[in-house]
Amino acid sequence: MGHPTINKNLTKQDTAKHNLNNYEEIRGDFSWDKISRKIDWFDNEHINIAHVAIDSHLKTERKNKKAMIWESKKGAVEEYTFADMARLTNKFANVLVNEAGIVKGDRVFFFLERVPEIYISILGTLKAGGVIGPLFSAFGPEAVKDRMFDSRAKVLVTSPSLKKKIAEILPELPCLEKIIIVNRGNDSVDAGDISYEKAIEDASEQFDIVKTHKEDYAIMHYTSGTTGKPKGAVHVHQAVIGHYATAKYVLDLQENDMYWCTADPGWVTGTSYGIFGPWSNGITQAIYEGGFSTKKWYSFIERNKVTVWYTAPTAVRMLMKSGEEVPKEYCFDSLRYMCSVGEPLNPEAVFWGEKVFGMPFHDNWWQTETGAIMIANYPVQDVKPGSMGRPFPGIYPGILDDQFNELPAGVEGNLAVKPGWPSMFRTYWEKEELYQSCFKNGWYITGDKAQKDEDGYFWFVGRADDVINTAGHLVGPFEVESVLIEHPAVAEAGVIGKPDPIVMEVIKAFVSLKVGHEPSEELMHDIKKFVTKRLSSVASPREIEFIPSLPKTRSGKIMRRLLKAKELGLPLGDTSTLEDD
Ligand code: ATP
Ligand code: MG
Repeated sequence: MGHPTINKNLTKQDTAKHNLNNYEEIRGDFSWDKISRKIDWFDNEHINIAHVAIDSHLKTERKNKKAMIWESKKGAVEEYTFADMARLTNKFANVLVNEAGIVKGDRVFFFLERVPEIYISILGTLKAGGVIGPLFSAFGPEAVKDRMFDSRAKVLVTSPSLKKKIAEILPELPCLEKIIIVNRGNDSVDAGDISYEKAIEDASEQFDIVKTHKEDYAIMHYTSGTTGKPKGAVHVHQAVIGHYATAKYVLDLQENDMYWCTADPGWVTGTSYGIFGPWSNGITQAIYEGGFSTKKWYSFIERNKVTVWYTAPTAVRMLMKSGEEVPKEYCFDSLRYMCSVGEPLNPEAVFWGEKVFGMPFHDNWWQTETGAIMIANYPVQDVKPGSMGRPFPGIYPGILDDQFNELPAGVEGNLAVKPGWPSMFRTYWEKEELYQSCFKNGWYITGDKAQKDEDGYFWFVGRADDVINTAGHLVGPFEVESVLIEHPAVAEAGVIGKPDPIVMEVIKAFVSLKVGHEPSEELMHDIKKFVTKRLSSVASPREIEFIPSLPKTRSGKIMRRLLKAKELGLPLGDTSTLEDD
């Protein structure tokens, strides 16, 4: 806390421009039932995400509106209207049903680069009633095997090079019946595999979409594994109500926006907000095939005139690392709103947004399990840097003690949410007991620690497993890390508790430095002093270790679990989601 609030001082006219123009009013009046009537159901009980995201627009003026503007790593551009998407997804659904024998409930997994075909095949699978399982293309063979074996996937959609990468594990997947190869060229496919291009060319454009029940399984996302073995969170078709509502009110997506979500469809952000949220709102998305690159990202925003940008703290920190001069070479006039998710967003990053883009990054909080944004900063509300914001209308979070009773404002505890929203996960795939254990005393327990202030803003403290107990004080790693990165020499920081016979745990910080700074004893003292002054001597790291970069998951999250295991010489556990050095 302790940072100045970013007061937006909006006029009535300014607020009227936003979908959520009055937080209290919309929250007071909100019902999931009411908002669900804004999207197209087959009847009271039946809904299909792909119909809502694509086909429902064909009846409207959006039919010939661009749904996707895709740019390859090399700069080639492809554009698809909603009508194109409808046609191609129908074709893919036909391929699945006729050539791969997919029936409702079968799992279809995607191990593909961020090419247009991943969007088409995901939506086509939903049309066919299949359950989608997107995997990040940077995964290695073991990570793919674990997830596909666990889910008993029947079909895999992949590319020639990615198939080669996992060739050794394919014989170990007894349930895998068909592989569909996306060529994007003229490579021939292995005998027995289906060529995406050829099959699409031959398939009919007509498909009778499977009229799935609102509670039918639709999406499986294995959580990123920051704290343990990935588990398959399962979501149902009516989750799209949540994607639709939050994309509208949190991301503020409006008819003429050019929206860019930097997340890969391998992560829940890349599906909820890289596919379903924007397209259920009929919004045009700009999609970049490549990964992070400061210059490429800046020029992508400039060239595509991106208006709304949804990214992650790790990306913001990397942009910060490259300084304030580079962005001056680009024009960001099109940008009107920026959001962030995935990890705590350090206040320093919020302010940096203001400095460089003329607006703060708006943090929001949610999880694979919640399927959609739960707590957020909104365009019409003041931003308290370091806070995740306020609950989404229709969402009731609370802070609980360890007996799962609600705590008052200003007290740290377990972040929980009252169950019952549409995009809530319905189980962990074949781990029902683990799923049930997440619910206590009428609450869904998120596994995060947080507190709430008098204005109803929520503040992240840390993952329950990461909170440090030192000399009788509970210290959240986020608070210490945020102060560390305010130090002029520090680029990134990961903070852990290291067991200590006297004070239970001492704080240890792993720190990577900005370009132009070298590790030294002196710098170490200076950083410690800096934290003591800003926070307290209790929160100041006893030990600081300089490392070139922090271990992160492929979605960019700092893996404190790994830092701790390395520090203590313990087994590293599941590292399948770890990014390469
Ligand atoms: P696993 O559950 O396998 O350990 P994971 O929790 O990293 O992996 P996700 O569901 O992708 O998997 O991440 C959700 C978690 O990310 C949240 O529970 C929280 O710890 C963190 N997180 C997400 N957004 C924010 C945010 N805005 N502020 C703070 N933490 C966030
Ligand atoms: Mg989690």
